[in-house]
Amino acid sequence: MPHEIPSCKRFSGYKPCFPDHNCWEDGCKDNIPVGTKILIINLDAMGDVLMTTAQLPAIKRKFSESTIYWVTLKNAAPLLFNNPLIDHIYSFDAASILILQQIKFDYVMNVDKSHQSCALLNSLESKNKLGFGLDPDGKIIPVNKGAYYNFRLGMDDHLKFKVNQKTGQEYLAETFELDYKKDKYVFEFTEEEKQFIEKYKKKAGIKKKDKIIGFNTGCSELYPNKKMTVDQHILLIQQLIKKKYKVVLLGGLEDTLRNKEIYSRFKGKIINTPTIEGLRRGICYECIPDIIVTGDSLGMHIAIALKKFVIVWFGVSCWTEIELYDRGIKLFQKDLFCSPCWKKQCPFNIECIKMINIKRIISEVDKHFKK
Ligand code: SF4
Repeated sequence: MPHEIPSCKRFSGYKPCFPDHNCWEDGCKDNIPVGTKILIINLDAMGDVLMTTAQLPAIKRKFSESTIYWVTLKNAAPLLFNNPLIDHIYSFDAASILILQQIKFDYVMNVDKSHQSCALLNSLESKNKLGFGLDPDGKIIPVNKGAYYNFRLGMDDHLKFKVNQKTGQEYLAETFELDYKKDKYVFEFTEEEKQFIEKYKKKAGIKKKDKIIGFNTGCSELYPNKKMTVDQHILLIQQLIKKKYKVVLLGGLEDTLRNKEIYSRFKGKIINTPTIEGLRRGICYECIPDIIVTGDSLGMHIAIALKKFVIVWFGVSCWTEIELYDRGIKLFQKDLFCSPCWKKQCPFNIECIKMINIKRIISEVDKHFKK
């Protein structure tokens, strides 16, 4: 080859990095070394993908000169757009896998205990592999010592439900052999999105002095029992609007009918944000309220990423694993013998949801605004 390929992370070999400058023949104009090449595999769930962004600051502390690649599912990729700490985002498809299989990584870190993510980790070339892979029988296994505790949490319900006190971020940092410092999620709006939020607030008649509470009314269809009932939402909203708080309904496509039903009870008195404009716009709407009331869902993780004050109820899932960064309140039923359960269908009467303390939510809202 007549000239060396520049080691700069901007060089693609397809077109100039700077207009009218031939980096290949004339040398690199502004060299940003590729450094340590790290691939994160985290396909789903979407909330988990957002939570995993909290590992990025520790990765950058350990590997200050590095290039971060991330492979995820197509629907989760917008959560990572515009993230200043990620260099390349890949959707999990044949074309991306083909590309990733050509790169010699220094680290591949797999978050997911799923067959497809583990098979991907096995199939890639890397000096170091962390997290989870597959054994020759196709079984999911931990591939490094740091992943053992995380693996045991999956195998041992008593440990996961009753004993564990580590947050998801903490045991994932341990899995990836990183220094855990309670780092925040990393999420950035684009300038266009910031302007969109301001314009929407104006259009919706939202004033600076308004005290705004956002309701994430839905949750993943995989665990439908994480939701409050529509009647509970209505009761809560009735009391909040009596106290002159502004209420905003939030959600994605799957929440459209539910939000419509709740809104029909309060026409003109609350704001029903659009649910059909895509994930990034949904996050823009969630940026509007001061407080987010939510179950353990993607909406909760978005609220945490946006540094909102979060009031979150739990039943099915493990409250100890969620880090609110001292900006919120967790509501859970400590004495309910079956909670948490991680069951898709409740064998009882969804007591964990019926027991949500509506009065406590209102008093926490009042307390927050009095601060
Ligand atoms: S089993 Fe218990 S924790 Fe699980 S959904 Fe039913 S009431 Fe809730």
